[in-house]
Amino acid sequence: MFQEIKLQRTIIGKLDYDGDLLGQLNDIASQNNITLGKVEAIGAVKKANIGFYDQDTFEYNFTKLDKPLEITSLLGNISIKEGKPFVHAHINLSDEKYNVYGGHLGQGTIVFACEFIMTKYEGIDLVRDFDEQTHLPLWKI
Ligand code: ZN
Repeated sequence: MFQEIKLQRTIIGKLDYDGDLLGQLNDIASQNNITLGKVEAIGAVKKANIGFYDQDTFEYNFTKLDKPLEITSLLGNISIKEGKPFVHAHINLSDEKYNVYGGHLGQGTIVFACEFIMTKYEGIDLVRDFDEQTHLPLWKI
């Protein structure tokens, strides 16, 4: 199941020091009316909150990493959830020994420095809604 979409525009910038990483990405998507998009970023965080979805209990288990970490990779998409732009992002983070952690980006990941690129597409309205099989708010395509 897929559809063709068209690139509309791209924005580039940096996030605020001490701000919430996911919160800022959601704010930027809303301010720029990006309801269909992609986001990528690199940088560093002061601490992180990442999740793993338990496929048996249908619940996210979140883990707090309370130390400075490099954002070695952040990749996400933007669609519509509950009527507004919604960023779904996964993040890889490395510590001072280059151990890497990865997971679903949660609230409470605090920016030290972060450079992002966000791309807006057009062509379809991609809306998230409850999925019976996974219990996740997946795309209704
Ligand atoms: Zn996820």
